[in-house]
Amino acid sequence: MNFANIYKNSIEQPQAFWDGEAKLIDWQQPYSKVLDYSKPPFTQWFIGGKTNLCHNAVDRWVATQGDKAALIAISTETGTEKIYSFKKLQAEVSRMAAIMQTLGVGKGDRVLIYMPMIAEAAFAMLACARIGAIHSVVFGGFAAHSLATRIEDAQPKLIVSADAGSRGGKPIPYKPLLDEAITLSAHKPGKVLLVNRNLAPMNLVEGRDVDYAALRAQHLDSQVPVTWLESNEPSYILYTSGTTGKPKGVQRDVGGYAVALASSMRHIFCGNPGETYFATSDIGWVVGHSYIVYGPLIAGMATIMYEGLPTMPDAGIWWSIVEKYRVTRMFSAPTAVRVLKKQPQEFMQKYDLSSLKTLYLAGEPLDETTSAWISDALGVPIIDNYWQTETGWPILSVAKGLEDMPTKLGSPGVPIPGFNVKLFNETTGEECGANEKGVVMIEGPLPPGCMQTVYGDDARYVSTYWSVLNGKHVYSTFDWGIRDAEGYYFILGRTDDVINVAGHRLGTREIEESISSHANVSEVAVVGVEDKLKGQVAVAFVILKNPAAANTAQAQQALEKEIMGVVDRQLGAVARPARVYFIAQLPKTRSGKLLRRSIQAICEGRDPGDMSSIEDPTSLNQIEGALSS
Ligand code: ATP
Ligand code: MG
Repeated sequence: MNFANIYKNSIEQPQAFWDGEAKLIDWQQPYSKVLDYSKPPFTQWFIGGKTNLCHNAVDRWVATQGDKAALIAISTETGTEKIYSFKKLQAEVSRMAAIMQTLGVGKGDRVLIYMPMIAEAAFAMLACARIGAIHSVVFGGFAAHSLATRIEDAQPKLIVSADAGSRGGKPIPYKPLLDEAITLSAHKPGKVLLVNRNLAPMNLVEGRDVDYAALRAQHLDSQVPVTWLESNEPSYILYTSGTTGKPKGVQRDVGGYAVALASSMRHIFCGNPGETYFATSDIGWVVGHSYIVYGPLIAGMATIMYEGLPTMPDAGIWWSIVEKYRVTRMFSAPTAVRVLKKQPQEFMQKYDLSSLKTLYLAGEPLDETTSAWISDALGVPIIDNYWQTETGWPILSVAKGLEDMPTKLGSPGVPIPGFNVKLFNETTGEECGANEKGVVMIEGPLPPGCMQTVYGDDARYVSTYWSVLNGKHVYSTFDWGIRDAEGYYFILGRTDDVINVAGHRLGTREIEESISSHANVSEVAVVGVEDKLKGQVAVAFVILKNPAAANTAQAQQALEKEIMGVVDRQLGAVARPARVYFIAQLPKTRSGKLLRRSIQAICEGRDPGDMSSIEDPTSLNQIEGALSS
């Protein structure tokens, strides 16, 4: 069967399609029904089936490849490298699970994990999965306030944390932030389990804080059996990145998620047991959950957990890891590639990258210049994939494991089997045809692996994401896109990033893509700013590859004109930004996404709003500075 037929089958016969995919994982008890969509938009998969994520990620592989690498934890911050085979990983997870049980954690209890990228963080996630506790991983280094709101929302019985993370060789103490967050939160965890890395001093709170190493020593031989869970019981809570506002607590199931990951590992990421996978994300984000911890392990692959910068000790570090561990599939983000792009290609080319087959990129629109640059530097194909925390795995990509379909520059690809993707006109609610811009929506039922609900708030889930169009329940991605005649989608930006210039609707992404094609542009953010005459105008903030080219007012004006000229030629004068500002840093979330919403607010003299997810608050001053210069 070719891709088109497989896709069609997945939409028309979801039961049959997913019944087939479900064979990719182990079930302790078979399900009685594949799909229950009797209460739309709520969807249940593999009803009555019993399975376990930790079993599928770890135990399942112990018999056949117990001595092969499962988790490779590398830190260029502390200069450590540890390899855990499937057998060793099973032992560590069992110890962690035993510790959690002695601390009173059982099935359904929440465990908040606030950890750096160290092996113990993965042990903690897998241990929760093993005993049926619900983990809520919060990005390590989030400020006390952001952490406190997540503690209040998830009400954890236990928090697992560490003395410190590290960035650029400097320890970042976590414990004081955690203590402050617990003080701020109305909910108090019963226990706090702390991994001491000896990076920063810790004051232990009597009766609440316990030391991981000491407890581990008591549980060296503990063997905790897997708790089999009904497929639809919750496995974890994870908050969205918070690019557009208040983060939403995405709740996911057990069986559907395991099947979706196994399916995507086979068809999209084409990973085989015994190979090594390297995702450069962080466990605090959805990519970390799906493609650092669970996905590769469920596929029987070794997975790399990397703590450190992509440029330390130099820009060759990732590629030296690819060489050393014979990485076959790698997953990163355009924002990371843009950082590398500032360095010469030699850093990649001095390593033996012959094991690497594909680099997958996701998280932000991938502009053609960046894609071509990295593909050229590595000599491997780049596969873009588009998805969200909410969906847990790719909505759009090219599934090379099903058919060797071509990629198209600037497009993440086509809908992946299971996702009934449609475009709808924002104002009329009519479905769009080819080459018509619309909102990217997914008709229910959502495939396995997607969010079940907003944690503790079914009503918010329905009202935030779902609407009924033409009598069908449809899920909104809040992204704007267009589909070409061959069915490839192009993401044009978020729906609140659409600019209306004198009645013309433009995606910020289109203008950014055009500006990035200028040879001296490294990064760019375009926002729509209120204008009395035209309704809105586009304003661009640009980081130059060579900032010296704009060091006089005159040079700046010339460059601004040049960039406007590029947009004029490519998109037309209506898309031309009213102003192009040159700055050194753009405000981004800690997951590397542009905070256009905050830039826009500052441009319009409004308060930038909830800034809990911002990477560097001083980047906002740069925007203010540019505007007032
Ligand atoms: P919040 O929902 O809290 O505002 P967020 O949307 O940034 O945060 P994520 O779930 O991490 O949180 O990001 C998903 C979004 O990232 C998508 O909806 C889309 O806007 C963008 N995105 C992800 N991958 C791609 C891609 N390959 N191409 C274009 N955009 C992408
Ligand atoms: Mg979102």
